[in-house]
Order: sequence, then C-alpha cells, then structure tokens
Amino acid sequence: MTSAGSLASVIVRTMKLLLDNYDRKINYLRLSITDRCNLRCRYCMPEEGVELVGHKDLLTYEEIVRTIEVFARNGITKIRLTGGEPLVRRGVVDLIKRIARIEGVKDLSLTTNGVLLKDYARDLAEAGLRRINISLDTLQAERFAYITRRDRFKEVWEGIEETMRQGFSPVKINVVVMKGFNDDELRAFARLSLAYPLHIRFIEFMPVGGVSHWDGQEIIPFSRIMEEIKGIGELVPMGPYENGGPAKRYYIKGGKGEIGFISPITSHFCAQCNRLRLTPDGKIRTCLFSDEEIDLKGALRKAGGEAILEEILYQALQAKPEGHRIGDIRFKKCQRGMHAIGG
Ligand code: SAM
Ligand code: SF4
Repeated sequence: MTSAGSLASVIVRTMKLLLDNYDRKINYLRLSITDRCNLRCRYCMPEEGVELVGHKDLLTYEEIVRTIEVFARNGITKIRLTGGEPLVRRGVVDLIKRIARIEGVKDLSLTTNGVLLKDYARDLAEAGLRRINISLDTLQAERFAYITRRDRFKEVWEGIEETMRQGFSPVKINVVVMKGFNDDELRAFARLSLAYPLHIRFIEFMPVGGVSHWDGQEIIPFSRIMEEIKGIGELVPMGPYENGGPAKRYYIKGGKGEIGFISPITSHFCAQCNRLRLTPDGKIRTCLFSDEEIDLKGALRKAGGEAILEEILYQALQAKPEGHRIGDIRFKKCQRGMHAIGG
C-alpha cells in the first residue's frame, strides 16, 4: 500500500464520503442474510443443496443492525438485502423495519426469487421497503421447473402481480441471459415492459462459484439482444438511474416499463463500482469476483464496540481492487457460490 493510496482511501467523516484507493465513492452495501434457498437454480446451487452456514456463524439481526448503523453514519446510504433467498430467513420483515428506520439509509431494497412474495409483499411494504428486484429467467412454467429444479413458476408470477398491487416502485425483473437456456424468450420478456410498469433487466451470466460451468460461451452480446427487441418496437435510450446503478436503460415506445442491460463481463463497470458485500457469515467482500474477504463478524465478536466496525469499513476501502480480471489469463473463478455471496 502506498502512502498516496492510503491517503486516497480516506473516510471524510464530515462530508460522509467514503472513497476507496481509486477515488470511487462507496455508498452501497449488499447484504446476504442467508445462504439457504427454496429453489435450486442450476447455475447457482447443486440439487442436493450445499453445506450451509451454521446458526452460530450467521450474523445475528442485532449484529446486522449495529453494522448498518455504523456504516450509514460513515456514508453507506444504500442497502440491498439478498441471499440465498432472503425471504426464507425467519424475522426478515422485522429486520427490514429496523433497517428502514436507521438514519442515513436512504435507499433500501430486496432481491428475491419471488416464491414467497405473494404472502410477504404487503408486510414488506408496511415495513418500509420500497423497491424489489425479482429474479426470473423464463416465462414458461416447465422451463422454470427445469432451471430452478422446483415447480413454482405460478407462485412467482402471482408474487410479481402482488408486488405491483402493493405499489412497489420500481419492480425490476432480473433475467440472467444464457445461450441455449432462455435466449429464445428475449422478446417475450421485453413485451412485459409494454404491458406492465416492470423494469426488465437483462443480465450477463457470470463466472461465480463452484456450480456454474464457465467458458465464456454462455454470454449473449447485448447488441444481439437489442437487435431482437427492436423487432417489437422502437428502443428509446434513457439516462442513468438517479441513485446510480450499472444498467444501460431504454424503454420501448408506448410501453409502461423499462428495459435495462447489465453487462459486468463484456463492458465491465468496475471504474464506477460503489459497492461492498457482506456475506451471511459476516465476511466483507470488496469484489464479487474475488475470494478475498475481511472477517467482520470475527472482529465484532472479539472486540465488540463500534470502533471495530469503522476499522473494518476502512480496511474494506483499502482492499477494494481496481477491477475484476475476467478475460485475463490470471483470472480464477471464485469459490463461494452466488447463494453464499448474494448476487
Ligand atoms: N435468491 C434470490 C434471487 O434469486 O433473486 C437472491 C439471491 S440470487 C444469488 C441473486 C441473483 O444472482 C439472481 O438474480 C440470480 O439469477 C443471480 N445469479 C446467480 N448466479 C449467477 C451467475 N452465475 N451469473 C449471473 N447471475 C447469477
Ligand atoms: Fe436460490 Fe437465487 Fe441461487 Fe436461484 S439464484 S438457487 S433462487 S439463491
């Protein structure tokens, strides 16, 4: 670490600005609250499940809330809950209620597979959640059962409808586009944004975890997706989201919703990366594609107190790499699966 690097990586407390060594403003924490899941998506988890984090190793809600309080005081303003499937952890609504009340948290959102949403949407809205991302890679029930190894398409679709009824905005549908799996459904997904106020986001498949096979061949270039979608209407470009976010945004003329493209591999956005991740067992990850972790839970349980959380945050800023190395000969796929990191 150079001293110039250390200087750049400084917490400017008065301005509540967290800068890393590459002058990126870090304001976003993605928090995976469980590695358990009620689906078994083929690219994420094996059929038989995985060795799960034991209960005593899971960050407690108390620890999560304390961490967010300290991080928010220092400039983390955006929190996303993810998993595993976050809605399978008991007490999640109460956790959301507590996080929504933390001063400094301006944007609170959730990524879910949608299976339990029909029952949860109302409670989540009442708890203070405003934004939801739902992962859905196919609109065909049979194909859904194949990809996720569970026959639960109907519940997910009803969950999406309930989410719209409860007034969440935006409701984003995350579609991981994979050659040979769902690339014949691009137009069907795009059409959803004509009929509903949904934000459809096409996401590139990524080399994460032991399960997902990776040789780079699964990726469909976004130019091809756009070409297909143009067939159903004029694609109009939009500006970036108010609160950042890596999607390139469009809408189809006359449509109620939006279409976004997220391409971490083919046109990576590391230079604008504003995020840190916290795993269910309390490890900070500074990059989705790197196995380097900082043991927040261990430090917190050993030292207690808030100073240690600030210290860990500071360490994370210092450790955040400039970018991922996918495509580079030195790149090694990280070992933790997406279910244990939080996508
Ligand atoms: N269970 C929740 C869900 O599916 O939305 C939250 C956790 S899941 C790990 C978060 C997101 O990661 C999902 O949208 C999933 O499709 C995506 N994902 C998992 N493995 C992926 C991979 N190898 N490449 C791209 N996206 C992936
Ligand atoms: Fe579960 Fe989400 Fe992974 Fe699918 S992508 S197995 S829903 S954690």
